[in-house]
Amino acid sequence: MKKVLNIRYLQKILTVLVLCALPNFYLSIKISAASSIHIEQDIIPVKRPINLNNLEESSDTIYNLTQKVGAKLTAEVKKTKLKENENLVMALTRVKFKPKDIHSIVNSISKLKNGTNILSKLPLGMDIHYSTPTDITGGALKLNFSKTKDIFVWQDFHETYTSKVFLRPTKSENTLIKGIIKSSLYLSAVKSGMPENTLLEMINLLGFSVDFQREIREGDTFEVMFTKDIDVLRNSLIQTKPIDFVSINLSGTKLSFYKYHDEYGLPQYYDENGKSSKRTIMKTPINGAKLTSRYGKRKHPVLGYTKLHRGIDFAAPAGTPIFAAGDGIIEKAGWNGSYGRYIRIRHTGTYKTAYAHLSGFHKRIKIGSRVSQGKIIGYVGSSGRSTGAHLHYEVLRNNKQVNPMNIKLPAGKNLNKKDLSAFKQKIKQVLNQKLVLEQMIENKKIATYSKKINKFY
Ligand SMILES: [Zn+2]
Repeated sequence: MKKVLNIRYLQKILTVLVLCALPNFYLSIKISAASSIHIEQDIIPVKRPINLNNLEESSDTIYNLTQKVGAKLTAEVKKTKLKENENLVMALTRVKFKPKDIHSIVNSISKLKNGTNILSKLPLGMDIHYSTPTDITGGALKLNFSKTKDIFVWQDFHETYTSKVFLRPTKSENTLIKGIIKSSLYLSAVKSGMPENTLLEMINLLGFSVDFQREIREGDTFEVMFTKDIDVLRNSLIQTKPIDFVSINLSGTKLSFYKYHDEYGLPQYYDENGKSSKRTIMKTPINGAKLTSRYGKRKHPVLGYTKLHRGIDFAAPAGTPIFAAGDGIIEKAGWNGSYGRYIRIRHTGTYKTAYAHLSGFHKRIKIGSRVSQGKIIGYVGSSGRSTGAHLHYEVLRNNKQVNPMNIKLPAGKNLNKKDLSAFKQKIKQVLNQKLVLEQMIENKKIATYSKKINKFY
């Protein structure tokens, strides 16, 4: 019973804290680098870490902080960085603080919660803003010791040093990056200013459907939308949030994926029809067939001697449709020796699947064309070296046959009907947001252009 009451009490405190933080959200619009554009999202109460210690917000200058805490006025403020193998005492000695002041400063910081721990783990290169004390002005120090916090140390009118932790102000920026691929997706994305995390996310996400080695052509384009958390004082990136939307245009074929949270609250990605971005390769690319020969050593039915069977055989009546085992590009479709009528699909840089002894090809099948998983590519037959109507199915990893039953490619669940309507709403929202960002990119271009013209005249 007591425990329940405590939780309620805690919830009340948290609610008050959250409410206190709300007035800090305001709308402002900012345009940055040419290739990317941001809208601050602060008008929407985005999830922010709850300020459990109820810390005050830090300021960009020591002067503002002295005003905030009512410290003795400081003289000129200088800046240095913590050097290698240096602790705070050494850094302050280097910038001409007197030992007496240094002792009081360190003593004051160590009285903070986790103070000694913070002092022993100050990051290399940390910004130190400082003002050395004189007869009439006070000593002051601002240490940016973590991504989100500063320690401010100041001297009051009794010459006593006091320390306090301040929270650095942050904001969330919605960002759209568009790029044209020159040599590789990776290099073009780096050039567009995409943060590395986002780039890796994009490559992982598209990797199930795009063969980066062979499918990318010069002039292909990509778009990525995501949210950045920015340190306002330094205007630097703190972290990126999972991608909201990614799209790639491969010689006219456009693939787009949108973020949608699954039942566990984890971000998953789906195309506009709710199909998961995580594609696997089907182990059985045929309906209602009987598995008649597994992968492995067997006595060959036609040749008569023991041979490694590098695929799986499914017996089915001639004319039974065969499906593409995964999304990919048709690499081969035609007669292939003992394989008879044969199709090979390249799925990713690593995986291919092959289908042999067909009676015919689907009319859509052309070398170089893209097929999606589950689409009919051809029909069961007995062409080539075959004893009866069956499909011989192979999975190739790095061009070597492997046992299709052992492949371990993760498959994502597609969205069910219930989630699909909510997902379509989400797509609308994302595309609206993208339109707004695109409009801003245009406006920025016009502004830059007229600036150039004005300069010219
Ligand atoms: Zn076979």
